[in-house]
Amino acid sequence: MMKTGYLIDMDGVIYRENHLIPGVTQFIQALMTTGAPFLFLTNNSAPTPEDLAVRLKHLGISGLSARHFYTSALNTADFLCETDPGCTVFVIGEGGLLAALHERKIASDAIQPRYVVVGEGTTTMDRLTKAHECIEKGARLLATNPDNWCPVSSDKTRPGAGATAAFLEASTGRRAYYLGKPNGYMFHRARRKLADLALGEPEQVVMIGDTMETDIRGAFEAGMQSYLVLSGSTQFEDVADYVYQPTRILRSVAELTDELRSGKPADPLAHLGMSGNGFRSSKGGLRHQTDIFALHKPRPRPAMTK
Ligand SMILES: [Mg+2]
Repeated sequence: MMKTGYLIDMDGVIYRENHLIPGVTQFIQALMTTGAPFLFLTNNSAPTPEDLAVRLKHLGISGLSARHFYTSALNTADFLCETDPGCTVFVIGEGGLLAALHERKIASDAIQPRYVVVGEGTTTMDRLTKAHECIEKGARLLATNPDNWCPVSSDKTRPGAGATAAFLEASTGRRAYYLGKPNGYMFHRARRKLADLALGEPEQVVMIGDTMETDIRGAFEAGMQSYLVLSGSTQFEDVADYVYQPTRILRSVAELTDELRSGKPADPLAHLGMSGNGFRSSKGGLRHQTDIFALHKPRPRPAMTK
């Protein structure tokens, strides 16, 4: 079988609301025992890779360490380190972002930073005002990821980094640059990290995710295979609305376990007329995490606009 590397989204693929999705333990076990290279890829810039390893351990998955995780916070630090080493930043964000920037020796500057970096997490009007002033004085605006909201539970969301960045875009009239999925730089660096882990470039890379406009779109644009799982935010009947399509549609990653062990692909399920598996989004597919149009006016969603 072709040597395949896996990039795996977390929320909606591995867990939902602090519960593992059924079959995930066996799936990750199969990845480890077969030696398939894999990396968890998340747009959440709040936790550090160490935090994520501990979180999965508490959910019952052991054997993972920090090197198995790549977050949009690491991607942002990689971006700054590569494009503008020695730059300074004013940060709105949490531990994962601060640690990633610190590790890359990028200094904080609240007086005249070169960048305002916006990540996931709570902030205050004082911090936003400070960030606004820095941008007015010439700082460039970077966001770790474009998600306007993030799921907290099946009927609850919280504002995401995209919403905070949108606030500053509105107040300053400047546009933010968004890292994280679906930005190609996220997939480029993740592929590189996967190759480091595998001690060589995998022949093909598969992105497994539950969100069309981040996981599937980004993978498609980066020339990767993409497997959409219906255990998270996307309903089967919504997939056809998008101009880009996943390579395969699966109920959950549990369907890949046998395939990994045997090396033989299972039957694709896209033709079975499935309709989700119990984890239903409260948004009913009407409001996507990066859908800025939802802010302006409610309207029927025309086909083929994504
Ligand atoms: Mg997800």
